[in-house]
Amino acid sequence: MTAPAAAQTPDAALAHARALLRATPLIDGHNDLPWEIRRAEGHPRDVAAYDLRRPSPKHTDLARLAAGQVGAQFWSIYIDGEMKDSGYARVQLEQFDIARRMIARYPDRLELALGTADIERSVKRKRLASLLGMEGGHAIENSLGVLRAYYALGARYMTLTHNVTLDWADAALDSARHQGLTEFGREVVREMNRLGMLVDLSHVSPATMSDALDVAEAPVIFSHSSARALVDHPRNVPDSILARLPKNGGVVMVTFVPQFVSAEFKAWEESADAERKALRAAVTDSAEFQRQLDAWRTAHPAPAATLAQVVDHIEHVRQVAGIDHVGIGSDFDGVDYVPVGLEDVSKFPDLFAELIRRGWSDADCKKLAGQNLLRAFRAAEETAARLQRERQPSTKTIEELDGTSAARPSS
Ligand SMILES: [Zn+2]
Repeated sequence: MTAPAAAQTPDAALAHARALLRATPLIDGHNDLPWEIRRAEGHPRDVAAYDLRRPSPKHTDLARLAAGQVGAQFWSIYIDGEMKDSGYARVQLEQFDIARRMIARYPDRLELALGTADIERSVKRKRLASLLGMEGGHAIENSLGVLRAYYALGARYMTLTHNVTLDWADAALDSARHQGLTEFGREVVREMNRLGMLVDLSHVSPATMSDALDVAEAPVIFSHSSARALVDHPRNVPDSILARLPKNGGVVMVTFVPQFVSAEFKAWEESADAERKALRAAVTDSAEFQRQLDAWRTAHPAPAATLAQVVDHIEHVRQVAGIDHVGIGSDFDGVDYVPVGLEDVSKFPDLFAELIRRGWSDADCKKLAGQNLLRAFRAAEETAARLQRERQPSTKTIEELDGTSAARPSS
């Protein structure tokens, strides 16, 4: 590691990146593999049939995780926010079960991690530290007891909302019913801080981000979001929020989702969406609908998002929030499209090679790779230890705090 960054050939930068990721664990904030296993064609929910020792149909398997030098992964145990009537608890518990069976199936490769000490132990043992992150506060069904039960099952972050606005929090992609968090929503954040479950602000509206930062007693994370100043997508983080991260200590884990990192891709997605809606209204036959949609897609190919654009977002977050508040949250297995150069979990070293070519120091690359997340998580654990000495588990209800009983369907 002697040549100045600019003088390095692409291969030298990649070799440098690989050496760097051997010395410091890469921690990725978001991978949707458990949902892929749930909906696998022909063998849904079958952890054995979705064999990670073989090449998988999507972005993630053991060989590519090793090639990508992934040291720790938050596996998303996402559940759909629009399945209210079928019961969130059943699906959420099944996703815990799928993820935990998946981790247990490869004891030589994966290890369940419940905190920073576990991450460090697994890295030393050359196992992929496997953490569980819940995606969507709808899962707790307005109950702090349910939140605590999910913590006990291993959830170490919860995204406050997915795409649907809740009784207590506004989502980025839905209507603003509360202008942020309700009082019960604030109590959810306080209880997560008391438990030591990271508060994840990806998917929430800017007002919810702001309210959560106001009440948070521990660092927050964004498990998979990019910079709104570069691509004006509601899922991205505005500069006004990025600027508050130094005080909070939190981390924005920049995501690779094409419509969040490329303005051209976002525009294409919007027109594809409009086309789909128009076709659905005009064409009743489902085979004909699909034929026409495919024809539109052939005539209008998706523009490529690129690795360089992802790096632009990383550099923007660094510029506004600071080098101590940026991380990586790929969203592999949760997306249909990926940027050129970041096609699957084997490609993380290529991302670091580009940073090295742009002049990033080893120390800064290591912060981005995982040291920032570890620091924030450790601070959240320390806060939890203190809060558990100071206060009991909250027994507050949404009816008490928000007076919402009138809004609930009477039985
Ligand atoms: Zn998501």
